[in-house]
Amino acid sequence: MLLTTLGLSACGSDDDGDSATPSAATSFAPGTTMARLHDAGKITVGTKFDQPLFGLKNLSGKPEGFDVEISKIIAGALGIPENKINFVETVSANREPFIEQGRVDIVAATYTINDKRKKVVDFAGPYYVAGQAIMVKKDNTTITGKDSLAGKKVCSVSGSTPADNIRKVAPAAQLVLFDVYSKCADALKNGQVDAVTTDNVILLGLIDKDPDAFKLVGGTFTKEPYGIGLRKGDTAFRTFVNDTLEASYRDGRWAKAFASTVGKVEKTTPTPPPVDRYTS
Ligand code: GLU
Repeated sequence: MLLTTLGLSACGSDDDGDSATPSAATSFAPGTTMARLHDAGKITVGTKFDQPLFGLKNLSGKPEGFDVEISKIIAGALGIPENKINFVETVSANREPFIEQGRVDIVAATYTINDKRKKVVDFAGPYYVAGQAIMVKKDNTTITGKDSLAGKKVCSVSGSTPADNIRKVAPAAQLVLFDVYSKCADALKNGQVDAVTTDNVILLGLIDKDPDAFKLVGGTFTKEPYGIGLRKGDTAFRTFVNDTLEASYRDGRWAKAFASTVGKVEKTTPTPPPVDRYTS
């Protein structure tokens, strides 16, 4: 059988792990997504561009954050260098369509794995578990969590799990939807809304950028396991990304990626969650 060969050193048995060297496979079977991407020498990744700690465009136009670092780990395992990753912005509502239309090869964008989304895309991971929370202005004393939102204007983002969930847990709140969370933060700051709800770590990133403006109240009330979105039915690629994530858990690359990004607000690096090799 013809195999595509990578110029990187083999690592099949090198699982013991303290090396930071990307553990790339030596070869990919023809016809696989791995072979296609490796042969092309480039990959298109959908990520967020306005979320501090996960995917935020810096002044030179490059996105930075944990999702960006995880994407680099996956690209590295395919033999693709960082500068050959084409990052495109995916907002919450267009992640599934971008994958379905082939506009991106993967999505790494604070993307919660759930059954509704699994009907149209597949997920590798999870590689992190967040939880939904509530953010208010720092001087707000009336909103103390999800149970004090009745009649309040609560901002979230279209197509996100927190927007769906807040309808259930706080049905008397007035939901205000934007396409990205940075607009919710602006609306909270200028008094257009009373609270913002999404994943705790996204809110912590917004607070980190503007520490005198906002605070979290009430703790988390959902589990949001973050996965790498990819084309539905591409099981070989999903397995490859899962293998890559597990290798990065073992050899310290995941922990390094976390510490240099989310670690800014979450000082203790957590144990990464086990990947879910679901079959349906
Ligand atoms: N993790 C949630 C989701 O995938 C919220 C964050 C986001 O919208 O990116 O919907």
